Amino acid sequence: MKRIAVFPGSFDPITCGHESVIRRAAPLFDKIIVAIGVNAEKKGYFDLETRLDMIAATFQDIDKIVVDTYSGLTVNYCKEQDANFLLRGLRTSADFEFERSIGQVNKQLDKDVETIFMLTQPEHTSLNSSIVRDILRHKGDVAKFVPQAALNIILENI
Ligand code: ADP
Repeated sequence: MKRIAVFPGSFDPITCGHESVIRRAAPLFDKIIVAIGVNAEKKGYFDLETRLDMIAATFQDIDKIVVDTYSGLTVNYCKEQDANFLLRGLRTSADFEFERSIGQVNKQLDKDVETIFMLTQPEHTSLNSSIVRDILRHKGDVAKFVPQAALNIILENI
């Protein structure tokens, strides 16, 4: 059986923190699906196409990392994709509490899906997409916070 993991999130935009977790997890799995959760009522800062492009460009060097979108329950999407693993990143104890409850509820929803956590690199602990959006709104430089390939796309879109 193939080891397929889903890494779900908003990725609005992808940051170096996401990239680091996904790259470090790559040796553990046959395939990682970076899955953008779509919420019809919540319009993102970047549109879906741009978020997809940024993720695809970031991982163009690793074939087993693919990008997709989904709506509905994450465990249902895992089932559709034959994925038995959910990958999440942990930055702080607040992340842990939040992720613990989601992980435990997901396990009750589908006992075949295991949530796997990767610790963030210390330098990415305070990094999140919302900080990157704030910097962009105020015309600041996000080069240190997003993957180079994503930065190129951001620069084309502002
Ligand atoms: P959501 O909005 O659903 O939380 P995010 O895109 O913010 O989606 O996060 C997706 C996943 O990436 C989560 O598991 C989150 O903990 C992880 N993550 C976000 N930022 C970082 C970071 N700087 N370092 C490590 N993991 C991160």
